[in-house]
Order: sequence, then structure tokens, then C-alpha cells
Amino acid sequence: MATKERVLEALRKVKAPGGGDIVSAGLVSEVVIASGRVYFSLYANPQTAKALEPVRFAAEQAVRALPGVAAATVTLTAETAGAAPGKGVGQVKRIIAVASGKGGVGKSTTAVNLALGFQANGLSVGVMDADIYGPSVPKLLRLKGKPELIGSNTLKPMENYGLKVMSIGFLLDEESPMIWRGPMVGSAVTQMLTDVAWGELDVLVVDMPPGTGDAQLTLSQKVPLAGAIIVSTPQDLALIDARKGLAMFRKVNVPVLGIIENMSYFLCPSCGTRSDIFGHGGARAEAERLGAPFLGEIPLHMDIREKSDAGLPLVATDPGSPHAKIYRDIAAAAWSQAESAQRTVPKFVIE
Ligand code: ADP
Repeated sequence: MATKERVLEALRKVKAPGGGDIVSAGLVSEVVIASGRVYFSLYANPQTAKALEPVRFAAEQAVRALPGVAAATVTLTAETAGAAPGKGVGQVKRIIAVASGKGGVGKSTTAVNLALGFQANGLSVGVMDADIYGPSVPKLLRLKGKPELIGSNTLKPMENYGLKVMSIGFLLDEESPMIWRGPMVGSAVTQMLTDVAWGELDVLVVDMPPGTGDAQLTLSQKVPLAGAIIVSTPQDLALIDARKGLAMFRKVNVPVLGIIENMSYFLCPSCGTRSDIFGHGGARAEAERLGAPFLGEIPLHMDIREKSDAGLPLVATDPGSPHAKIYRDIAAAAWSQAESAQRTVPKFVIE
């Protein structure tokens, strides 16, 4: 039988005019196979079309020679700037950042379940993992491998649980040293905003790097944010971290949609008893004092840790659980804050 993999394997033996093979050179479009007939295009422009004609012929022959292929139709397609459909974030209605004052508070776990909560509430959702220093979204959403190229310069988002996903983690080997530092951070993030075919989305959830340093500030300015959500644990909410996050977004005029308190209380997995280890109500009061909406509290629970670390986020894999409901409710609260923030957004900011 003809498969996409076999077709691409055969095409890897066809040389590209500029060196290398046509697949690696990014010249091959999406391959479509229907009843043994194979269709695809080679990207060309007026300058390269002539040189590509013999390549097109060779590609057609190579695919026709495969067992199970009844016919192959290869065309040359003009690639104009931004030709890949839905490239960039132009058709994304809202971009919402999930941030935290420091690492380890459950920001990524919350971002992923929040994204799934938006989806459960009827929205089309993407997740962009901008946590350059520790991209954990691929693991949390059970995604591996490399994103496909569409044409020569557009990345196709990966997909799982109905979410479109892009992470800097896909573009690096897990073992490879972390070279995306300083100025590289900005360009990697720009690439995720401009060169990914996000298509039409109601919301793109951005998992920000933890902290409130320069990298985070630059990022908040680079990403056209509709709002930011701050994840905090009860301990640091009372301390300085969450406040710093708040101040950072306010500095760049990004509305803070609210604060989520994670690991808020302990829910005993065997007896179901709730223990307010860090006291109760403090976060809500603190949020009020800071003038930020309080979006809700998520308990510290074994299921949340086990499921998210196994790439089986609760909102998708156990939607009937009480935790899934908590995330959906928080998503609904965040969405309504985003809608009212949009209505009240000032046209001019006078300082
Ligand atoms: P961050 O993105 O802030 O560094 P993570 O989302 O990676 O944090 O979470 C850190 C660890 O805490 C992970 O092992 C995760 O499974 C766990 N975790 C996050 N939220 C909860 C929770 N509400 N209950 C139990 N474990 C949690």
C-alpha cells in the first residue's frame, strides 16, 4: 500500500536544485493519497520554476515506481510570501499568557489544563510553549517528534487532545545543550508567532518562562497579549513573587485577567478530607488587595501530579473528575475577564 512515509522516503532520493534532497529542502507540500493516487506540489517561484521542471518530472517518476501507487500527480505551486494557510497569529482572536513569579508552582500544568478547559467550554485552542528554559508542554501533552514543514518556512503545529501545540522543545533534542539564551529567546519566540500555521483559533495559551526578569518583560512586549494569568502557590502569593508578575504586566499595559492559586489546599486521596495547609481565603484577599481578579483555587492532589507528568491531563482524560470541573470553571472565569478587559481596554494610555 502507498503510504505518506513511503512517498516521502522515495522523494528523499530526488535531488533539489540548491543541493540536498527535495524533502529536506522544504520543497514538498502536504502529500495527499486517495485510492492509490498520490498528489502533491513542489513549491516554486518564477525564478526557480524552470529549474524545477525536471525535478518535478523525476519526483513523479519516483513516486509512480512505488508499489501500490496507481498514479502520481505532481504540480509546481507558486509560493508567495506567507503562502501557507493560516501562517502566524493573524487569525488568532486572543493570546493569553500564563505566567508565574517563580518556577515549580505548577504554571505549565495549569496552562495545559486551562487550555483544555477553554476547549471544553467550546473554544478552539492552541498552546505555545515559550518556557524556553524548561519546555514541559510536549511531555504534558504526550507529544514527541518534530513538527512538519509546510513549504520552506512554515511549521505545522503538532496536535493532541484537540489542541494545536508548538514548543521550543520540539525544535531541540532533549539531550542537546540549552543554547536558546538571551537574544535567542526573542527570535525563537518570534518564530513561534510568525512561522507557525496556527490558523483560526479563539485563543492561544502561552506558557511563559517563570520569573519576571528581562526575558519575560521582552516576551510580554513581543507577544500581542490580550491578557495574562498569574499562577501562584499560597506561600508566594503572600510574598513578593506574584506581585512582581502583576507589576511586570501592568508596566507593558497587558491586562491581568486574574490570579490562580495552585496547590491551594490538600485533598487527601484516601479519605477526601480537605486540609488548608496554608490557611484559607488569603489568596482571594491578597488578589483583591492587589486589584486583580481571583480566578479560583486548585487543590494539591496526587491525581493532578500523576496524570500531568504522564502526559494525560485530567481535563482531557478524566473530564468527570472534580479537578477537571475546577479547571473548566477557572477557564470560564478567565474568559469572561478577557471579554471585559477587551471592552474596557483604553485606546490611548496617558502616563
Ligand atoms: P512550573 O511550570 O511552575 O515549573 P509544573 O507545572 O511543571 O510547574 O509543576 C511542577 C510539579 O508540580 C509537576 O510535577 C506537577 O505535576 C506538579 N503539580 C502541579 N500542580 C499540581 C497540583 N495542583 N497538585 C499536585 N501536583 C501538582
